[in-house]
This record gives sequence, C-alpha cells and structure tokens, in this order.
Amino acid sequence: MKCPFCGDPNTQVTDTRENDDGDVVRRRRRCVSCDKRFTTYERIDLKMPHIVKRNGSRSDFDHAKLAGSMKLALRKRPVTTEALEAAVDRIQARLLAMGENEVSSEKIGELVMKELKQLDKVAYIRFASVYRNFADVDEFSEVIREVQSRPKKGRASTKPPADSEHDLFGD
Ligand SMILES: [Zn+2]
Repeated sequence: MKCPFCGDPNTQVTDTRENDDGDVVRRRRRCVSCDKRFTTYERIDLKMPHIVKRNGSRSDFDHAKLAGSMKLALRKRPVTTEALEAAVDRIQARLLAMGENEVSSEKIGELVMKELKQLDKVAYIRFASVYRNFADVDEFSEVIREVQSRPKKGRASTKPPADSEHDLFGD
C-alpha cells in the first residue's frame, strides 16, 4: 500500500484488528520513508448482480419487489411471512454466490419457482403457469393482479398449460 503523503510504496503494517462482526479488518500502517501513519480498511466486496430483462433493460435487485411478486402467488395460502422472507433471503444469497455482475430475469424466475415449490404447491403452479408465458417477474405481478381482481372469469386456474406440464415437474 502506497503512502498517501509521500507516495513511497514501502509501508509497514503496525497493527491489525477485526471489528466485532469479523467482516472488516482495520490495519494501522507506517510509511518507512516519511514515518507518517495511516489506516486502511479491508472488507468483503460482494455485490448483488444487476437484473437483465428479456428486452435488455437492467435494474437493481429489489428484495421488497421480489417478495411482493411471491406474495401475490401465495395469496390466501397458508404460508407465513417469515417463511416467505426466508425464501427471498435464500434467493438473494444464491444470486450473491453466483458472483456475476448480471443475471437474467429468467434465472430469478427459476429460483422463485424452486422456492415456491417447497413452500406451497398451489402458489408454485400459479406462479409457474403465469410466469412461464412471461418470463419476467414484473410482468408476472401485473398479470396475477389482473387475474385475482377478476376471479369469476376462471383465469386464475391452478392448472398449468398442458404444454408446460412436462417442464414444471420434470426435475
Ligand atoms: Zn510517506
């Protein structure tokens, strides 16, 4: 680490300590050349990938928005908010673990379906049957909202379209 005062590349670490959570390391350094002291901080650089939609537009990962979409699929189903939040956290953790700068909205849709499958079969089929035709979590939210505001018309069917049946249960 170069000295910020004189630019000399030779600095010594005189003290190293972690913060209480163990996620930041603080180092006291001394410049060998001008003897000035300074501190550096080292932390893990984990960033959520950007979401790339099919039309190529990018957006930031939004925990609340994703939870909202899943909540729509889980409407009136016996699943607690805690269980839903835990599922969103797992999706977020998986996206982080991918270590990519960008991830497609389709990939997120797949992760959502995997979680819903564990949480509630009806919600899973609701999501899958609508989502598969849209492949975008935002579009899905709009359509589900539409479907649920007009339940009498029978568009809120829990049966997936016949052609996607194989995919839905294929794994
Ligand atoms: Zn210096």
